Amino acid sequence: MPTIPPKSLRPATLLVHGGTERTPYGETCEALFLTSGFVYESAEQAEATFTGEIKHYQYSRFANPTVAMLETRLALLEGADACRATATGMAAVHAAMLSHLRTGDRVVASRALFGSCHWIVSTLLPRYGITTVFVDGADLAAWAEALATPTTMVLLESPSNPMLELVDIRAVCDLAHASGALVVVDNVFATPMLQKPFELGADIVIYSCTKHIDGQGRVLGGAVLGRQKWVDDVLTPFIRNTGPSISPFNAWLLLKGLETLALRVNAATATASAVADHLASRPEISRVLYPGRTDHPQYALAQKQMSGGSTLVAFELAGGKAAAFAMMNAMRLVAVSNNLGDSKSLATHPATTTHMRIGAEERARLGISDGAVRLSVGLEDAADLIDDIDQALEGLPHPMRQAAE
Ligand SMILES: *Cc1c(COP(=O)(O)O)cnc(C)c1O
Repeated sequence: MPTIPPKSLRPATLLVHGGTERTPYGETCEALFLTSGFVYESAEQAEATFTGEIKHYQYSRFANPTVAMLETRLALLEGADACRATATGMAAVHAAMLSHLRTGDRVVASRALFGSCHWIVSTLLPRYGITTVFVDGADLAAWAEALATPTTMVLLESPSNPMLELVDIRAVCDLAHASGALVVVDNVFATPMLQKPFELGADIVIYSCTKHIDGQGRVLGGAVLGRQKWVDDVLTPFIRNTGPSISPFNAWLLLKGLETLALRVNAATATASAVADHLASRPEISRVLYPGRTDHPQYALAQKQMSGGSTLVAFELAGGKAAAFAMMNAMRLVAVSNNLGDSKSLATHPATTTHMRIGAEERARLGISDGAVRLSVGLEDAADLIDDIDQALEGLPHPMRQAAE
């Protein structure tokens, strides 16, 4: 069968075909190589593999054919030279940062990060003598001030978890590059479908594949994408020797998840947009944050760097924590969970779960009030979700329907 150069294919096609390597059996579905090791035809072949004279799979901690298909498909989709898949999203963040950083280096990060990313920057890196500085991600003057000092690496997340604050990726990349830093973008909330960080100047892009890429709540996974030289010389030796490798079985499920990624993200984004508009019309809701709505404080930036508002909506109940809890408990379709990017809609109360550990002061700085709820919109019919939200809000006792005096 003749093959088409993959770079000429569009994303929807790459999601189905990118990176596929058929075995001589000619299977249609990607083969699952559930094996830890590989055998050689001879001791000479083993020797030639280890000297690098020939390419042969050695051990699944280093590389595996199913994992390689996932890595190639993700790299083609993202427009990256190279990709390494990892066991979790946090393994991806950790590997990307620790493979590159040395004692004495400096890291600047946006404050609004996923909880464990915040821990790596605030707690882990300083243990190794790495200076870390947090800035308000939406404040370009703060980025400019922090990046006036030579810096090694920048970590940012846009839109951020949980309040969907944006960072001007292009502007921060320009400042970071002038400061000597590589920019790492955690693109989980936008997904590969709605934002292309490399086109905006990013050097490294990270995913938790656990979220939309699996998208069906089954497995954990992560990915780091970047330039060939950096991946070969810096990232790969780190992964090879420290072992955050992904199971071939999980990689296989993620390959199947990628096949429907565009369909799922587009459908959930259309539903999230309808749900956000509906929430904004309800008197019990004091504020809706959705990058696809004109009242988002950074709507112009969202239009510039994203092609959709995302599958997540943040909102605040006028009645505070009691109202947020009552609403979450009363919903019948939308379950209470700290996960996101699932085909099932999920609601989180960040102040008491995902962002409990950062403390009240830091939450206030990030705009996470006690009435805030983060909704991860799934693949249900929008009308059913809206009905569920309405019945939950209408069941709120009267004093909870508005702000306390
Ligand atoms: C979930 C998540 C991670 C961590 O991914 P895991 O797969 O849970 O390790 C990192 N960043 C963001 C934005 C996430 O949502």
